[in-house]
Amino acid sequence: MVPCYKKNGIVLVRGKGSKVWDIDGKEYLDLYPGWGVGVLGHSPDKVIQAIAEQAAVLIHVPNNYFHPLQALLAQKIIQTSFPGKCFFCNSGAEAIEGAIKLARLYGSEKGRFEIVSFENSFHGRTIAALTATGQPKYQKGFDPLLPGFRYAKFNDLESVREQINDKTCAVLIEPVQGEGGVYPATEEFLTALRHLCHKNDILLIFDEVQTGMGRTGDFFAFKNYGVIPDIMVLAKGLGGGVPIGAFVARADLADKMQPGTHASTFGGSPLVCAAALKVFDIIEKENMLVGVRRESLAMLERLEEMKKKCPSVKEIRGLGFLIGIEVAGDPLPLIQKCVEQGVLVNRAGENVIRLLPALNILRVEWEKGLAVLESVLRHA
Ligand SMILES: *Cc1c(COP(=O)(O)O)cnc(C)c1O
Repeated sequence: MVPCYKKNGIVLVRGKGSKVWDIDGKEYLDLYPGWGVGVLGHSPDKVIQAIAEQAAVLIHVPNNYFHPLQALLAQKIIQTSFPGKCFFCNSGAEAIEGAIKLARLYGSEKGRFEIVSFENSFHGRTIAALTATGQPKYQKGFDPLLPGFRYAKFNDLESVREQINDKTCAVLIEPVQGEGGVYPATEEFLTALRHLCHKNDILLIFDEVQTGMGRTGDFFAFKNYGVIPDIMVLAKGLGGGVPIGAFVARADLADKMQPGTHASTFGGSPLVCAAALKVFDIIEKENMLVGVRRESLAMLERLEEMKKKCPSVKEIRGLGFLIGIEVAGDPLPLIQKCVEQGVLVNRAGENVIRLLPALNILRVEWEKGLAVLESVLRHA
């Protein structure tokens, strides 16, 4: 195996909901199933059934054929987001690449090609997504990066103004910066950014790879802000565990991509569309967004109490079930202690412990997890 992942030593073999078991049978409470992929936790029954049934009927067809599930999924995404058209692919980075290509295609008619993204952002590891990612630590060693990218300061409209010019075709932003350390955009900033882009004929692209699919208490984070992008990028939770990415674009924009301009062999197969449709279905039927909003408030309250008792906790940030606990110093030894005590949490940025629980996690589960976290933080 290419050693590009920092392993924590555990061999996971089985999962159900917010629980996973390692090869020795030890049970863990997973407070970030699949790095945000597991919006319904591990191996949700109804998704298993949808995948199994679809696998027996038709797994994959090339995209020069229609198939009903792809259309139904596109319709579902558009009904829950904004009017437009969908393109399906396989990962977050691939969906970002597609959005960047569409922005350039749009800009090419006017000689515009530059994209403004943000310091501390994360958009994926392929070369264009990596260039858009405003964190030198991820870019080191991969020069020359793609030309035509500029970086502004998050939540700072003046800084965006300084970076845009008559070559700018798009601004790319995460409504809540995830990997960078859980920093929500302010409503004031996103609203002003929307106006600025509109006034200058610049596309506004929201990377909702991490914030989408109910994570923030609404289907998509932009709904919390009431600011509608021109293009939205999805992946992670969309398939409830199976690899699927997508971008949604305003219809007039989407139509710039005529046959031959873009493609993805695996993109939006019947198998992954069946899974994603089931994820939407479950979130809606089980009223999970209401649950996320309620539980997230309770969790944030609990964390604020914890902060008072633990001097090593500097700040609690988040929106819905995307929560960051900023600590003094390196969180990795703390995370390792949690792992030893059977609770899986994750690092974001340099000094943030990130929680990305399943939307359907039970209060007794997360309370137990936070109790372990608190005992670890108290001794820090
Ligand atoms: C994870 C992530 C990506 C990259 O997704 P991959 O599927 O790993 O390529 C892009 N943007 C954001 C905001 C992410 O959190």
